[in-house]
Amino acid sequence: MISTQEDTIAAICTGIGGSIAIIRLSGPQAEQIAGAVWRGHKTPSGLPPRRMALGRIVDNDDEAEDQCLAVRMPGPASYTGEDIVEFHCHGGATVARTILSLLLRHGARHAEPGEFTKRAFLNGKLDLTQAEAVLDVIESQSRMALHAANRQLQGVLTRRIDTVYDTLRAMLAEIEVRMDFVDEDLDFDPTAAVLAAITSSHSQIEDLLRYREEGEILHHGVRLVIVGTPNAGKSSLLNLILGRDRAIVTEVPGTTRDTIEEPANIRGIPIKLVDTAGIREASNIIEQQGIERSRDSIRQAQVVLWVVDCTNDFASQEESVGLDIDDGLIVVANKIDLAPAGFAAAVDAPVIEISALTGQGLDALFDAIERVVWQRPHTEEPEIAINSRHADLLDKAQAHLATVAALLESEDYELVAVDIRAALDALGRITGRTVQPDILDNIFSKFCIGK
Ligand code: GDP
Repeated sequence: MISTQEDTIAAICTGIGGSIAIIRLSGPQAEQIAGAVWRGHKTPSGLPPRRMALGRIVDNDDEAEDQCLAVRMPGPASYTGEDIVEFHCHGGATVARTILSLLLRHGARHAEPGEFTKRAFLNGKLDLTQAEAVLDVIESQSRMALHAANRQLQGVLTRRIDTVYDTLRAMLAEIEVRMDFVDEDLDFDPTAAVLAAITSSHSQIEDLLRYREEGEILHHGVRLVIVGTPNAGKSSLLNLILGRDRAIVTEVPGTTRDTIEEPANIRGIPIKLVDTAGIREASNIIEQQGIERSRDSIRQAQVVLWVVDCTNDFASQEESVGLDIDDGLIVVANKIDLAPAGFAAAVDAPVIEISALTGQGLDALFDAIERVVWQRPHTEEPEIAINSRHADLLDKAQAHLATVAALLESEDYELVAVDIRAALDALGRITGRTVQPDILDNIFSKFCIGK
């Protein structure tokens, strides 16, 4: 078994409160430490790989603590690439914690956040974009986000970057040979060849950067605010979008006291539905503050739904809400089931007519939201969703390629080589070919313990 790590690490991998808890042990002493705490028909090291076996956990005096399944996953064919033993025990914090503390007492070290996945990366089981995708899969808030994360986990992004990397690497090799044998008549026209490689690499990177926005939306979600006069039907619409009556409202730390965020998802787009205090004419200073906060959340939102009640006249609602109809603001005429025809004509903007009570018009509203979010034609299942780390490094690579293109005129291949190397370095950092400890710490510290 090949391992770059000497420690054997352990952690509880499951969340608190489940009916089963899983404790994972990974590293060169995994089987030995497991053997010290688990008793079954065989020792852990004698178990057939990847088969569950029933046994019990024993404490230091060989007293049975709990019934517990064990499974052995020998390296390198394991998640981390190292020997792994997992215990699946009864849920509840106490059992799992007892087992974990026994493992620590027998020589394991408590795993840091993301350390199992970090080891998988260091042992070549995953590259860096795939390791990031593990976190994206866990955190994905919508089907579309999960799809993009899974594609990244399968190596789709890596393969596209590697194609560019290999082209540039081959070109650099040609240039280096050229620099070493200046006087020899090699059958190679550097300017034309480098230009062709640079142009194709540049356009492939440009293609990837087109997914920047998808990445931003799928990783961070879109803030959607519902505003309107009291009784226009804001809460009814909120419930309709959530597909349920909002039973529990969660206050998100860092947001103002009377702004509440609910996760939702519309056509695969992860949405943060923001419920504002409501915009009204301020009658006193306290209400004025609530209104200011509402206006703040409108400014921060990507999509604003302005719900107007089409059983009331539009002009008075416009006056009391005081909103400007501009980009990103969708006017939603609610209670269409009650209204006489012709309300939309009074509004000097496109209006989506709905009934929050019957659900009529909801599809058209979702179409409008999609148009505002994507701002351009997009595929239902984005192939790739790059994150801001990838985008920054791709930008860097593009800048170096542009310099190479400019330098080609001068035929100074020493300088051309410098910038190709820099572009390669940026691309290599995306997939982790060029490893830097600070990048790794930054990425893996976002993981939870046990992953
Ligand atoms: P909010 O104050 O803007 O949150 O408004 P609510 O969602 O509480 O709705 C105010 C009232 O209008 C409630 O009695 C709702 O049942 C009713 N209502 C909301 N939407 C509709 C609708 O589309 N049609 C009808 N007929 N009534 C609605």
